[in-house]
Parts: sequence; C-alpha cells; structure tokens
Amino acid sequence: MGRMQNILGLCLFMLFLAGCQGTPHLVKRSQMLMGTVVFVTAVGADEMIAQGAVQAGLDEIRRLEELLSTWIPTSELSQVNAAAGREPIQVSPETFEVLTRSLEVAKLTHGGFNIALGPAVNAWNVSGEGQVPSQEDLEALRPQMELSDMQLDENARSVWLRRPGMSIDVGGIGKGYAADLAARVMQRSGAIAGVVALSGDIKTFGRMPDSQRFVFGIQHPRKRQGEILGRIELEDEAVSTAGDYQRYFMQDGVRFHHILDPKTLHPARGCQSVTVIAKEGVMADGLDTGVFVMGPDKGMALIEALPDVEGVIVDQEGAVVVSSGLKSRFSPEP
Ligand code: ADP
Ligand code: MG
Repeated sequence: MGRMQNILGLCLFMLFLAGCQGTPHLVKRSQMLMGTVVFVTAVGADEMIAQGAVQAGLDEIRRLEELLSTWIPTSELSQVNAAAGREPIQVSPETFEVLTRSLEVAKLTHGGFNIALGPAVNAWNVSGEGQVPSQEDLEALRPQMELSDMQLDENARSVWLRRPGMSIDVGGIGKGYAADLAARVMQRSGAIAGVVALSGDIKTFGRMPDSQRFVFGIQHPRKRQGEILGRIELEDEAVSTAGDYQRYFMQDGVRFHHILDPKTLHPARGCQSVTVIAKEGVMADGLDTGVFVMGPDKGMALIEALPDVEGVIVDQEGAVVVSSGLKSRFSPEP
C-alpha cells in the first residue's frame, strides 16, 4: 500500500519551534506510539516541569494505546471484539468514553462515522497492504456492521457486541481522544502551554511564551509532503485532518484509501481532505472522518451548524471551502 506519512504534526511542530527560539523552558520529544510518530511539546516555568509534563503526556498516550489498540491482543478493545456475540465486557472509563463519544459522532454525521466498520476495514486491509474485496464479500459482512448492535451499559460500564463477527475500530477517533487526555495530564503536571501531535491529530493548550498563538499548517492533499494549503492559528483547540492521501493504494488508476463509506463499503469519494477544528481532539478527529464520508456539501453544512467547530474541506476536484467562522483565521498559502 502506498503509505504516506502524515506531515501535519511535524509541520505544526516546526512552526511552533521557530516561534519558540530562545525560550528556556520548552521541552519537546517524539516517540512511536499508536502506530505513528507522536510529538509532544511542553512549556513549563522551569526545565523540570516541562520535562515532567512531556513524560506524563507520552505515558498517557501509551496507557491509552494499551486500552484501545486492536493490534494489542490484551487491550480492552481486543477483548471486547473477541467476546462479540458472546458476552459484555467491562471496560475502563476511558474506553467507555471513546465508545460513547463515537456514538455521538455517528449520530451527528448521520451514520457516516461508524466504528463498527471493523470487518470492512479488515476486508480492505486498510492498515496493511490494501486489497479490493469483492462486493459480495463486503455485502456478506454488512450484518456485522450495525452500530446499533453495540450495546453500552453505563451502570456496568460494559460493552457488548451482540453479533458474532462484529469488531470495533477506533482508528478514526482514538488519536484525537488520546491527544486530549495527554494534554490534560500535561496541564496537571504544571505545563503552561503545549502541543500534542499524533500525526494529523493535534491538541494545543495555552500560548507560546511570547504570547503568540500556535500556528498550524494544513497539508496540501495533492502536493508533496510538507507543502501546505494554508495556516491556522490555534489556542486551546484541537485540529485533525482526514485525507485520501494518508493511506492508500492505486489499482487500475483508481485511488483506494482508508476512509470507508458505510453505505457503499468502499472508500468515500466526495473529498480529498477534511480538516476540523474543535475544542476537543476527540470531536475534531471523529468529525474529520465522518464529514469526509458525508461529502463537501452536507459535511460543511454540519460544520457550520455545530458550535465551536470550524473546518476546511478540499473536495474531489480540489476546490477549497473554508467554514465562515474560520475565514478570518485561515491564511491560504500563495
Ligand atoms: P488517521 O488519522 O489514522 O488517518 P482518520 O481520522 O482519517 O485516521 O480515520 C481513518 C481510520 O478510521 C481508518 O484507518 C479506519 O481505521 C477507520 N475508519 C474508516 N472508515 C471509517 C468510518 N466511516 N467511520 C469510522 N471509522 C472509520
Ligand atoms: Mg478521524
């Protein structure tokens, strides 16, 4: 599969560093977590605080990875998937919250966002080399992808996938959620500002030491890595981009990418990329995937309708649409 590393995180990080030259208490570190390079940056009153905050942020992401990754057989989500059709599994508050928030985004996006697409994600081998499954095979999986068959019990804090063969995949929302929680522990450990970037899923808090906002570059979906479409300033916000260029393979001149439309069970065709800005990473990440599936018109209408949510959509022809509340903060790259 023609895998392209998402550069957005790096982009923000470099712009951030450029603005922070000369500040003594900034610490940054990167590490491979959740299948991607994670960049964590903290600003603290002293070096020790900043170091501690960065470590706490990275530790938090690792902790969440161990709960949510379906690559880890002992993770809570793997246990939930293994028990599909059999029994409810009690989970941590964090896992329960990701699933609850996923349902919220599913509702907002009229089913465009669907974490029960696991079987289709596997059939396309989205996380591996990629392959085009037959329509017959995909249709056969449909009954196992009904989100309404995922039963959440708030009192028992348990998850039950009622049908055998069901499988939950939080690849479209988990990194944004992890960014939120990492930012929270960093603040608790004393950081006054920071950035958590899990490839294209970024959460910022506070301002840089010189009172500047964080500047974030949106990757151009059809240009080389690092070439941006435009810049946005962020303050206590999250940004997340879903794109058809992030993970895809080409077959007979057709681009097959990793965001599937639950209706067709094929890659969603309306957009090249969707960037969502929200207060929380979990919202930004869930919505970028769901809006991508909805397509540019319905997707932008949803962004406009939601309070504290802004976005930039690049449609299939490459036309760029910026939400009304973002226009004054978006600087297109000449
Ligand atoms: P990433 O940041 O990893 O590129 P995205 O936010 O773009 O992730 O979401 C894509 C991932 O979400 C896919 O790799 C797959 O695991 C999962 N996914 C694919 N289609 C959907 C969908 N319609 N709803 C929810 N999750 C999806
Ligand atoms: Mg997403």
